[in-house]
Amino acid sequence: MSQTLLEMAKDLVLAQIQAKTLPPDEMHSALQQTYTTLMTLKAQEGSDGSVPVATPEAPSKPVTWRKSITKHVVTCLECGASFKQLSVRHLKDHGLDGRSYRIKYGIPRTQPLAAKETTARRKEIVQRARPWEKAPTFVKAQEEKKREKAAVAQRKKTARAKA
Ligand SMILES: [Zn+2]
Repeated sequence: MSQTLLEMAKDLVLAQIQAKTLPPDEMHSALQQTYTTLMTLKAQEGSDGSVPVATPEAPSKPVTWRKSITKHVVTCLECGASFKQLSVRHLKDHGLDGRSYRIKYGIPRTQPLAAKETTARRKEIVQRARPWEKAPTFVKAQEEKKREKAAVAQRKKTARAKA
């Protein structure tokens, strides 16, 4: 969509001439008018659309947060201090929390605020501990599965005994 406003205006006017809604000798004024209208529309779009959308990610701060999270440390983008993990308590010193910090620096919601190594190790521990298996719903589901299996086995045994 690299069409300029002038090209757009020209196309619109030509379309009107082709549709015979505009006599060709009025083309010049129509072109000028259409162009002006498009200019106005574009200006309105620029002032209305860009202000609220662009503010969370300040243009003076490009994607620098990626550099703040390395293998061994995470650097606080507020004060430059380095940590294994950016704690809620530390962010509170800056009047922020994980959510507002991420918004301020355009960090994705899913990005852990910790050194990559720390994140990886935590993932490993979680996978080894499998805490979800201790959750009541999971345990209950497992027990039900076991009971079902036992019931099926019992039925098979009974069928075999009859035969
Ligand atoms: Zn800090």
